[in-house]
Amino acid sequence: MEYILVGDASVGKSSLLVRLTDRRFLANPDPTLGVEFGSKLIRIEDENKTIKLQCWDTAGTETFRSITRSYYRGAAGALLVFDVTSRPSFTNARVWLDDIRAHADPHLTCVLIANKVDLCGNEDANPGNVIGSSRRRQVSTEEAELWAKEEGLLFLEASAKTGYNVDEAFDQAARDILKKI
Ligand code: GDP
Repeated sequence: MEYILVGDASVGKSSLLVRLTDRRFLANPDPTLGVEFGSKLIRIEDENKTIKLQCWDTAGTETFRSITRSYYRGAAGALLVFDVTSRPSFTNARVWLDDIRAHADPHLTCVLIANKVDLCGNEDANPGNVIGSSRRRQVSTEEAELWAKEEGLLFLEASAKTGYNVDEAFDQAARDILKKI
């Protein structure tokens, strides 16, 4: 089962992938060594199934977009990522979604991920850490959730840094895909 990660540069796509596959977080990832591909076995207990997740981290720059388009074709799921501390990354999520709709399978499962909620005083994402301040947040949960609903996307807030909701995001997508096949 192939997934693709899409979204603007720096929203945390590589970090989500590293977190999922390696259980680590790199504070200063080297962009030239960006993770491009990760693979992981996910066990869906109640369905009694194990699925192999193959994940492409699509580079969020125009140069790579034509390459990216060919990846859309084989994908069963897309994780559309934005950074809650960057309003432009949320605005651009619309452009990414148009791109997904134009090039991917119409039945593709798409999860909107509001990443970096550890920076926004989200206690679940960042227990006991008061450094994160809600002032840094530029997109509210309600606004993102509403847009996801309008567009028929699954929605989760997550943090690649603390690991909050990372497994859940990939899991939810897998469950939704399994329902369709
Ligand atoms: P990409 O370009 O979308 O693949 O983004 P990266 O994974 O390279 O992340 C961009 C920057 O954001 C890096 O400095 C990461 O350490 C940082 N980052 C990524 N995810 C998170 C997160 O959940 N919380 C915080 N605080 N920083 C993050």
